[in-house]
Amino acid sequence: MVLADLGSRLRGALSSVDSASEDEINSMVKNICTALLESDVNIKLVVKLRDNIKAKVKSELKENETSANKRKKLQKIIYDELCGLVDSHEEPPKPKKISQTKSQASTKVINGKKTKVVKSTGANSHIIMLVGLQGAGKTTSCTKLAVWYKKRGYKVGLVCADTFRAGAFDQLKQNAIKSNIPFYGNYHLTDPVQIAHMGVSTFKAEKFDIIIVDTSGRHRQEQSLFDEMVQISEMIKPTQTIMVMDGSIGQAAEPQAKAFKESSDFGSIILTKMDGHAKGGGAISAVAATHTPIVFIGTGEHVNDFETFKPTTFISKLLG
Ligand code: GDP
Repeated sequence: MVLADLGSRLRGALSSVDSASEDEINSMVKNICTALLESDVNIKLVVKLRDNIKAKVKSELKENETSANKRKKLQKIIYDELCGLVDSHEEPPKPKKISQTKSQASTKVINGKKTKVVKSTGANSHIIMLVGLQGAGKTTSCTKLAVWYKKRGYKVGLVCADTFRAGAFDQLKQNAIKSNIPFYGNYHLTDPVQIAHMGVSTFKAEKFDIIIVDTSGRHRQEQSLFDEMVQISEMIKPTQTIMVMDGSIGQAAEPQAKAFKESSDFGSIILTKMDGHAKGGGAISAVAATHTPIVFIGTGEHVNDFETFKPTTFISKLLG
């Protein structure tokens, strides 16, 4: 079931409650759970959500209050529980802007001579490595993420370490040029670990605040992909690893996220293709299964079709 349909099913379930009798509430909860299951939300999560709703209904709805009051409380309970399903209480990181920090200079007397001493600020570039299957939207998301940070005053560089997909570097290069983002890649080298290292070193030396590294994907999860991710990660030591996941893949999201988590230990997720016919339930389950927050969602092919993921906005939209 696509998100739009899930939304209308949830709205339908909520509006079916009139007198807020026990039978009506039970049937509403059942309908909500069925709709979530049909949207590929994991059964364990749905059971937990159902139990939480039932417990809250028992403790918060009073026998002697009006049906209108009960309906209001019910809506709030459902809204809060759905938000809880997708909320990790995390915000995108705000790295230190090392490009704008001035070195601290002072004068000291050394061997009887006044000498200017420059103290390094000690700050490092924030390195973000993007991982995911081919076609998930990694290369597109790299530029979107770079532009998002650039708009907030960061000096951002892009590195293309995808040597597996023909044309990956050209795609990243074109996107980067259009958005005026410095980029690094190499047409001749075939070792992604070497390219990643060279790109990161180059931008680090130039005090870039944020360096975003695009890595190769594969059509399927396979060992060579995971080995490569581990090697790149060991070489560039990313501050943050983000998994890029296609929001329309449904049930496949959970095992995919688990497999990537074992190799790359990503700390957050970018969910792409949340426009159109996104089937977000699987992704919601993946998030819960790996205890990893969605930080951004891709909502189209254009570079600005990119938003921070706000659970409350997401659920409010879903519930209309
Ligand atoms: P990669 O193989 O993971 O690097 O994937 P790409 O970045 O090349 O993206 C694969 C396809 O998905 C391209 O046609 C992109 O334009 C498209 N794409 C990426 N993100 C989104 C999104 O948020 N919405 C839509 N509609 N398309 C997207």
